[in-house]
Amino acid sequence: MDLSPLIAKPTYGSAGETGRWRNYRPVINTELCIKCGECMMYCPEGVISKNLIINYTYCKGCGVCREVCIQKAIVMMPE
Ligand code: SF4
Ligand code: SF4
Repeated sequence: MDLSPLIAKPTYGSAGETGRWRNYRPVINTELCIKCGECMMYCPEGVISKNLIINYTYCKGCGVCREVCIQKAIVMMPE
């Protein structure tokens, strides 16, 4: 069965350049990161690339990536 109409997927930059009003920016500590990809999968804006580069133009600073990171490798830094 094709469930694609029922499943919402993030659309890259769908909310505009949200980085302009972001108060906190997520920063990945590469020494703690195990490259599991959870942050990339859960980011509602789809702005974390496969090689774990965050596009700060569209990141809205929601902190979902930090919450799902089992390694606690993401910190939210004030802008
Ligand atoms: S969820 Fe955490 S450990 Fe996993 S890839 Fe992202 S930053 Fe790295
Ligand atoms: S804070 Fe993290 S989850 Fe939220 S938009 Fe930015 S990269 Fe995505």
